Amino acid sequence: MSDLDLVIIGAGPAGLTAAQYGARANLKVLVIEQLSVGGQALVIDVLENYPGNVGLFNVSGMEQKGPKSGYEFAMDLYRQAESFGASFSFGVVTSLKKEDKTFIIEMIDGITHKAASVIIASGAKPRCLDIPGEQKFSGRGVSYCATCDGNFFKGKKIFVVGGGDAACDEARYLSRLTTKVVLIHRRDSFRAQKALVQRTMENPNIEVRFNTVIKEIDGEQIVKSVILENVLTNETYEEETDAVFIYAGTVPQSALAAGINAELDDGGYIITDHKMSTNIPGLYAAGDVRSGAFRQVVTAAADGAVAAHNAAGFING
Ligand code: NAP
Repeated sequence: MSDLDLVIIGAGPAGLTAAQYGARANLKVLVIEQLSVGGQALVIDVLENYPGNVGLFNVSGMEQKGPKSGYEFAMDLYRQAESFGASFSFGVVTSLKKEDKTFIIEMIDGITHKAASVIIASGAKPRCLDIPGEQKFSGRGVSYCATCDGNFFKGKKIFVVGGGDAACDEARYLSRLTTKVVLIHRRDSFRAQKALVQRTMENPNIEVRFNTVIKEIDGEQIVKSVILENVLTNETYEEETDAVFIYAGTVPQSALAAGINAELDDGGYIITDHKMSTNIPGLYAAGDVRSGAFRQVVTAAADGAVAAHNAAGFING
């Protein structure tokens, strides 16, 4: 059983930033991550909208580079948090409880941590469409990550599903690997940021089909075709494809928060105030798992900083 000031659950941009701020506030900080450091930022090809992340291209005489990828950015956040003294542990948290004034964090390997404060920064995961064939062909043509799997489909035909920032961003990434990207969206307009929408509509390698949904994904060992429906006419038709990349939004990883009776919104996101405090004293939430409209790397980092600052205030009385 270890005694810590602050345990941070999740090592995406929110958790890593919280770790840095917590460590710099002289707290004994442990970050627990179940997969890999970086969270959803790892799948960002070019992190072009993080303020100041412009790379070297404006410096005369230096090699032109451009913005860091999500991976490079996350690794820098990780090194930065570690250099200020935060510790890291990899494993699954099975339960989070509060006994008197102490949080008890139980791990799957039997280790238990005790902490005065906890920040939940466990993020969100891709939402499935729950259509026939989606699960069966996952990893065999169905993917939720273009930067991870796009290379398998160089020069092939690819369907992308969704109308948000992720669908537009990832369709653009895939359009550099193939000339045959079909982006389908269930409504007649995108919800993505205007600059992304404009680039998508002007991209000669992306065919945009509005008012269209995928009803089924078919194939043998790998994806061969999709059944599509025009939602205005109800016409269904089959079309050959090699891959389907799905960007239908995200679902929050808030089970630990629910287990400790933290207040959640209708979508299952953790409700906080402007200090990132939940309804449970000493428990904070930051990043994509938190209830709020705008989910960006920059807002996750800001949440993390605010949460750690207020956790330090809480711990110090
Ligand atoms: P999102 O903004 O929630 O968009 C999800 C899209 O999927 C929506 O267009 C939605 O359609 C559609 N959708 C949902 N369920 C569907 C279903 N069952 N069948 C068909 N379509 C479905 O999610 P996101 O694009 O993954 O982005 C998540 C968050 O990350 C957002 O806050 C976004 O701003 C942020 N993000 C930012 C960037 C960037 O700044 N470059 C990049 C990626 C993500 P409707 O529009 O009809 O609801």
